[in-house]
Amino acid sequence: MTCSFCNVALPVPLRTAFTYAVPESMRSVVQPGSRVLVPFRKQSLVGVVVEFVNAAPEGTKVREIARVLDFVPTLTPKLIELASWIANYYLAPVGEVFRAMLPPLTELKSQRQILLTPSGREASESLSGGELSHGLTGAEATFLTKLKEKKGAVLLGLQSKLGLDVSSLQKLQRLGLIEIHESLQAIRRETLRVIAWKGTGAGSEAAAAKPLAEKEEKIRTLLETERGPLPLPQLLRLANATRSLIDRMLRDALLESWEEPLDPAEDPFDTGYTPPAHELNAEQEAALKGIRARFELGAFGVQLLHGVTGSGKTEVYLRAIQEMLARGKTAIILVPEIALTLWIGRQCRSWFGARFEGVAVLHSALSDVERAREWWRVRNGEARVVVGTRSAIFAPLENVGLIIVDEEQESSYKQEETPRYHGRDIAIVRAKMESALTLLGSATPSMETYHHAREGKYELLTLASRVADRALASVEIVDLREEFQHTHLTSPISSKLHAGIQECLYSKTQALVLINRRGYSWSVLCRSCGASVQCVNCSISMTHHKQRNRLECHYCGSIQPIPKLCPKCQSKYIYFFGEGSEHLEERLRKEFPGARIARLDRDTARTKRQYQETLGAFAGGALDILVGTQMLAKGHDFQRVTLVGVVSADSSLSLPDFRAAERTFQLLTQVAGRAGRGELPGRVLIQTFYPEHYAIQDAVKQDYLSFFERELHFRRMMAYPPFTSLANVIVRDVRLEKAILWSRQLSQYFSPYDGERVRILGPAAAPLARLKREHRFQFLLKSPKRSVLTKLLSGAIAYCDAKEIPQSALLADMDPLSLL
Ligand code: ADP
Ligand code: ZN
Ligand code: ZN
Repeated sequence: MTCSFCNVALPVPLRTAFTYAVPESMRSVVQPGSRVLVPFRKQSLVGVVVEFVNAAPEGTKVREIARVLDFVPTLTPKLIELASWIANYYLAPVGEVFRAMLPPLTELKSQRQILLTPSGREASESLSGGELSHGLTGAEATFLTKLKEKKGAVLLGLQSKLGLDVSSLQKLQRLGLIEIHESLQAIRRETLRVIAWKGTGAGSEAAAAKPLAEKEEKIRTLLETERGPLPLPQLLRLANATRSLIDRMLRDALLESWEEPLDPAEDPFDTGYTPPAHELNAEQEAALKGIRARFELGAFGVQLLHGVTGSGKTEVYLRAIQEMLARGKTAIILVPEIALTLWIGRQCRSWFGARFEGVAVLHSALSDVERAREWWRVRNGEARVVVGTRSAIFAPLENVGLIIVDEEQESSYKQEETPRYHGRDIAIVRAKMESALTLLGSATPSMETYHHAREGKYELLTLASRVADRALASVEIVDLREEFQHTHLTSPISSKLHAGIQECLYSKTQALVLINRRGYSWSVLCRSCGASVQCVNCSISMTHHKQRNRLECHYCGSIQPIPKLCPKCQSKYIYFFGEGSEHLEERLRKEFPGARIARLDRDTARTKRQYQETLGAFAGGALDILVGTQMLAKGHDFQRVTLVGVVSADSSLSLPDFRAAERTFQLLTQVAGRAGRGELPGRVLIQTFYPEHYAIQDAVKQDYLSFFERELHFRRMMAYPPFTSLANVIVRDVRLEKAILWSRQLSQYFSPYDGERVRILGPAAAPLARLKREHRFQFLLKSPKRSVLTKLLSGAIAYCDAKEIPQSALLADMDPLSLL
């Protein structure tokens, strides 16, 4: 029996699913996982059917599903299961989890319409009788009549053409004579016309009837022997033919044509790329053997591939995927940066994707159309390897055997908005559901992961040396205190770094210069009163961007003009302080005239194309110096880099976060790993005011184990992860009094639990006390048992509901990476 009701998860911040009736005509199509269009309040929303139910909840008016968007359910049962796990664990509304999983809705566009209500219809009928009722003006009355003539609906925006202004529109709405509805309309998918040769078949009389003209012959060779079926625009270009010729040949049945979805934009670097064919060295071979042994078990497991930078982890990943595919299963490989999806994607395509099929790339810089296309290729089983960033963990692959997480320690795997999931952790949960293997790879594993490996929870595989007996780069410290004593200059480029870069230029090798902040100056101060220019919405100082000639807040994106006078005391002694990447680039250009310099940060690399161009230019030797933020540190395999300069190791060390040392060590080790990867030896210069700090000392030695031991000791003493689990709870509101009131209330809920099993710190003003106009108070929950935290938090949510504290005021972050 098919059910007539189902629960639908909607992308709204409410922790429930909603019951809808399934119309008779849709019953054979709707399934769990199907996307449906449903009315919700005054909108139409796209939701996902979670389950069928026998009856609607009592006392509610159940509305009907308006449309089914898929004939094959979008989400597989495994993904529905995963979504509900995430919703529980991260305390997120399940509809928002689905939203993170679903492909972009390219088939729909939203429209707002003005609709005539029944009383509006009545009114317009009485109006046409000549009477002006309801106290309407002439223009308003005319509009109602016209609306009725147009079958009671016009697009919002068209009313002005019909002589109605906005205040009248609002008045009619208030009187209940009209309604404004949002609706989603189907739009045609973008397709491409493909032309193929048909004429030589036995049944074709036309072909036999008369010999082909020269142009036609050209088209035949192209389509039949040289290239195969071609998209129409390409055919026109290659054959130098006209549209009317093709049309005629179609009519004559020499050609046939059909519509195909557009092809994903090709990666320009794909053409002519041949992957290196290395023989694995003994360490790589041993690691692969360990992975293979796991495959043979065919059960869930987690392995950590700990390999120093340049040890050839990618090669191991590719072979592991290859063996998994040979077993008839599929694989996902997650990378921390969009730029790396291009690089790994290219390698995967050349290994596995005959004609680029078989491999899909998913990340957020793709256009919606491209992303939807890639997503559906995966869903339809056309791609068996998925390369992508964080959300690619939700790729609708079936029969997953292997999930690789490259650079597993990267904080970009954590989503900093609802649902606040961690891609690496989900990789493990998903692998468990699929009885698959998770392979975590890193030169600098996170404390949590390495701890698990040492405790035997994960299996440890090690690549201790670089490929081809290459040495790790030599790392030196530049003590900025000494530097200042010698030179009395405050340039962020020390004399040693300057000399190093000069040497690179001289020997025609390349240099990378890392700086941790983007923008021109990261602080604007008043010399008279000492005030710094703060964001109007956040308790954060504004960053000066010179090229854009304005101040920007890096947290909420607000902008301000550059002040001429101090906003506080009107003094004109404004000065800019703290050099960011934009400033550093300018300085390098001055200090090294003639050098070919580019900058890579979030301001210069806004699109996939920009990334590609800069990285491609650097990799191809068209640049001498690349300056940029952390983006530079990750995974790239540049062959001619002999010098890496770190302008300041201290900016990450001084953050108010217990992970500051870990982050600094990882960043320095990673960036040091970019030097000396080719035949040429590498050198790294780290500038710091704290050369004694263990994070810096161990980074100089590139000694992961030493760092791990010291940091672990600190974590144990302070009862931080991996020895405890954390949850960060923020209470926030635009109104300060509300934020204070609610955090007091919540404190009453929490405080009885404070004790052995859970420690509750707070409420205190959050380190970011104001963000996007909201005042923020913080609780930090610590427990040796994560399940205790989950229980406590779901209790807190229920408590907030009971106290009528709005759900949006409470932000609960399980396993937070940032405590700001
Ligand atoms: P990692 O990710 O561990 O830093 P990569 O996977 O980027 O290192 O590999 C570093 C370089 O070594 C790449 O240029 C790769 O082509 C090369 N490489 C990998 N395996 C071998 C091998 N067995 N012999 C020689 N070169 C190799
Ligand atoms: Zn001032
Ligand atoms: Zn701001």
